[in-house]
Amino acid sequence: MARTPQPPSKRMFRMYVDGKWIESESGRTFDVVSPASGDVIGTFPKGTADDTKAAVEVAVRTQDTIRAMPIKERARLGVRITEEIGRSVKEYAVDCSLEHGKPLRESIAEVKDAIPNILWQVEDLKRWDSPVQEGYSKENVLYVALHEPLGTVAAITPWNFPWVLPAEFVVQAMLAGNSVVFKPASNTPISAVHLVECIDRAGVPPGVINMVTGPGDEVGTTLVEHPLVDGIGFTGETATGLDIAKRAGLKKLTLELGGLGPLIIMDDAQIEPAVEDIAFGCFTTTGQCCVANERIFVHERIHDKVVKALVERVKKMKVGFPLDADTDMGPINNRATLLKVERHVEDAVKRGGHLVAGGKRVPGMPTDLYYYPTVVDDVPPDALFNTEETFGPTAPIFEFSKLDEAIEMANAPRYGLSMAIHTSNLRVAMEAAKRLKAGQICINEPVYSWDYFNPWGGFRNSGLGRIAGRWSLDAFSELKTIMINVGRSPWPNGGP
Ligand code: NDP
Repeated sequence: MARTPQPPSKRMFRMYVDGKWIESESGRTFDVVSPASGDVIGTFPKGTADDTKAAVEVAVRTQDTIRAMPIKERARLGVRITEEIGRSVKEYAVDCSLEHGKPLRESIAEVKDAIPNILWQVEDLKRWDSPVQEGYSKENVLYVALHEPLGTVAAITPWNFPWVLPAEFVVQAMLAGNSVVFKPASNTPISAVHLVECIDRAGVPPGVINMVTGPGDEVGTTLVEHPLVDGIGFTGETATGLDIAKRAGLKKLTLELGGLGPLIIMDDAQIEPAVEDIAFGCFTTTGQCCVANERIFVHERIHDKVVKALVERVKKMKVGFPLDADTDMGPINNRATLLKVERHVEDAVKRGGHLVAGGKRVPGMPTDLYYYPTVVDDVPPDALFNTEETFGPTAPIFEFSKLDEAIEMANAPRYGLSMAIHTSNLRVAMEAAKRLKAGQICINEPVYSWDYFNPWGGFRNSGLGRIAGRWSLDAFSELKTIMINVGRSPWPNGGP
């Protein structure tokens, strides 16, 4: 199969502060290694606490530039950014696949997805209304609530969706009228540079959006603790989110954290779509998705049929180099995730689970991060699969006999991002939808589903706050009430 030509194997990149591409003050760098090829594909400045503080100072200085910019101008910038993204989708997608490992087809879809994501918010910005109310306990008073930007927002993002997640925070916080300091994941900063190039070419004023690359435990923590940062948009692991919540003080937090997404398949479900949804939810992005089907609960009456169909489906999947056209699934992004996947599979088998597909690394690949799509059947409820996010290409099957049992298992680990049920009984579906504790419940849909306007976010250990569309505007702003006594004042310069 012909491969898309690779870009030069090693490139030097820079951080972006005050509209300039710069090195770290320390002169230190770090390499980005492709999980697909094992090659070093980029070298980046290893930002320090001092670099981060300098970027925050620039952002604070430019707050007024963006706050005072008319909504029409901000909306125009948003559209210009999407035009810039649209110009080089394929080129950006190749880099995304090489640094992340996902198949090119998925990277193209992801880069393209950043466009409607931003445009939806641009449209919501134009219609971003707020309450006006007449006084209740005070006569002659009018209350006008206005949206006000937070000031400076820190956007800290993970590696699993290197385009959509940064676009979601960085551009949206700016559209809401904030200056931004962006710290991308250290595994996938090349996509972040491309997004910032688009922002730069779109004409966003210097200093409004800044990017500092470097380790989370230095650049990230400095942003989180900085007294002049007003809000934080963070997507990443629950443990990191908890650490941020402890360090951040009273900054406004939006935390999009881990999931342990259950898919419940009732005995009256249609088997073929259910199996398709399992495969989609477990193996897209090599299972490294916050809304992956982390756990599959199958009713005992159809259990054998579902497992048989799933194993047949999985055996047809091609694990391969992400740039090859026939690749269905690429490598796992990094060694820590691979080792966690292996630990979870081993644990389930040790506790009585049966490995019915995959369960090992793919030999003969450029790196040892390629892992077969894996199905483990008869997983007991005390297995790690049921308590910790696996974040890999695994489909652990748990059997149940009553809806109550499935709902209890689904809710038990206290993660609540997205949950799904397949059934042909609407009453059962709605009962489950009410009792499942998650920000999103999908009926006859995969756990892995969303849209640009859904209020997106988790219950419990899956996060704080909501984003997407107008919800992101709300997340990155405050409401300020202006109280006007319209009856009392003489209004010397002309009254209402
Ligand atoms: P991490 O929490 O490890 O890292 C996320 C970002 O935080 C990275 O930029 C990282 O920097 C930085 N960081 C690390 N430690 C700190 C710290 N102490 N303070 C501030 N920043 C820090 O997450 P992953 O990158 O591993 O992402 C995977 C996780 O993200 C999964 O749990 C997944 O479920 C979740 N996720 C949730 C989504 C949602 O919508 N709820 C969407 C997508 C993913 P560095 O890279 O340098 O370590």
